[in-house]
Amino acid sequence: MIYEVNEFKSRLTALCEKAGLSHLCSGNEDKIYTICSQLDQKSKQFNLTAITDPEEVLRKHIIDCLFAAECVRALAGEGATLLDVGSGAGFPSLPIAAVLPFVNVTAMDATAKKTVYMNDTASLAKIGNFNAVNKRAEEAAREGMAASFELVSARAVARLNVLMELCVPFLKLGGYFVSMKGAAADEEMKEAESAAKKLGATFVKKVPYTLPDLDDARFILIYRKDSKTPSLYPRNFSQISKKPL
Ligand code: SAH
Repeated sequence: MIYEVNEFKSRLTALCEKAGLSHLCSGNEDKIYTICSQLDQKSKQFNLTAITDPEEVLRKHIIDCLFAAECVRALAGEGATLLDVGSGAGFPSLPIAAVLPFVNVTAMDATAKKTVYMNDTASLAKIGNFNAVNKRAEEAAREGMAASFELVSARAVARLNVLMELCVPFLKLGGYFVSMKGAAADEEMKEAESAAKKLGATFVKKVPYTLPDLDDARFILIYRKDSKTPSLYPRNFSQISKKPL
């Protein structure tokens, strides 16, 4: 069960202070509350998340995604477009849109009920800079959405070498791919070196972070698209997953 609204806000404020993210959260508490209460109400029906404890939802979904929002804030100009690939219940896309109203966020998911859920949640939370589309990434990129976003984000969708083929084609030249990863980040980066090269992406930096009161290592990996992705990519999903670049 979710916290009562005032308790929710004071827990959120305390966790954001610990994480050094208060500047993102302040003024956006109501939007974040609505994201969490919707998740609590609809999680079972839509099979959205395994995390149900209210404190865990705050840390592992909200604070985690606010770290990504902080990276996006540093990279995005006014009116920048961001695509979140495999957004699920809206992570990191909904928290990013909630705290960065100057970024136009598109969330993409292959499952229709998840995109319906995300659009409903955004409208209840009065997050206007958000739109969810029901598409498979590799198909959308081949159907005219390639090279049209300044930023692409993803969390918990696939290993980096597979994920890059799903994400990098969407970037405009000079755009950034923001990938949220766990303890295997270094290993995945090595494994994805050849994919990055083939797709036209260059590694920029690895931002380490930890969630308040948890000590597992987490990283945000940032790549920049420095050359055009060859039109060969993305391939169809079975090739992408069976023969990663
Ligand atoms: N990013 C969310 C959800 C992760 S689960 C989070 O961190 O909580 C992975 C999601 O990616 C699922 O909702 C699945 O439907 C979606 N997905 C997997 N492959 C995809 C593809 N090729 N195109 C679009 N969505 C995809």
